[in-house]
Amino acid sequence: MEHLDLSPYDYADSPLPLLCVGWLGKQHGIQQWDHPAMSRKVLDAFERASRRAVSRTLGEHDCDFCTEEPVATGNGEYRYYSHSGVTYTAPVLVKHYVRDHGYRLPSPLQESLLDPRPLPWDARAERLAALVADPAEDIGARCWAVADLPHWQDRRAIDALELAALDEELVDLAGRDIGRSLSQVLIAVPGERLSVPESDLPFEVRAGITADRAVG
Ligand SMILES: [Zn+2]
Repeated sequence: MEHLDLSPYDYADSPLPLLCVGWLGKQHGIQQWDHPAMSRKVLDAFERASRRAVSRTLGEHDCDFCTEEPVATGNGEYRYYSHSGVTYTAPVLVKHYVRDHGYRLPSPLQESLLDPRPLPWDARAERLAALVADPAEDIGARCWAVADLPHWQDRRAIDALELAALDEELVDLAGRDIGRSLSQVLIAVPGERLSVPESDLPFEVRAGITADRAVG
């Protein structure tokens, strides 16, 4: 899958509009024509923002630029939510492209990564929370929403994820993701707690919380 940087992402049924970053391939090569060099600060922020791969259903993808074995592979993507309202998607291989092939992120994403302010609860957050709450919505999109809600350090993200933990279909498919997301928001929002005892949550959700705490 190869896309031009900052072109609209048209894979699957994304519940939110996304712009592509780092979907590199042989046709366009390492796209960095006018991308500025990445400072140490940007690299650190990029690393922090690229810890949790989501949408792992995309399938394994090989790097087209490795000339020696082992060739780097990756599955899934990272999503970056900017204050401007733009959301970027990059394949997990983007970290390898930056580290080993001199790829540079487009400047709007670099600038966004340096913005230290927490994301305000916005229309994207509302959309994801509504997806989680509505069993009639597409299940793939609902799993997507579960994984991305921790981008908002907000009580409403916790409430939406607690709702998800009551939804059998979502728990079957994404129970651990619900747990990981809950854990991440609870860590990010000091003083907030679950509204039910953790022991009342489904096993898979608790397993996700435990796994997230283990990763730290
Ligand atoms: Zn490579």
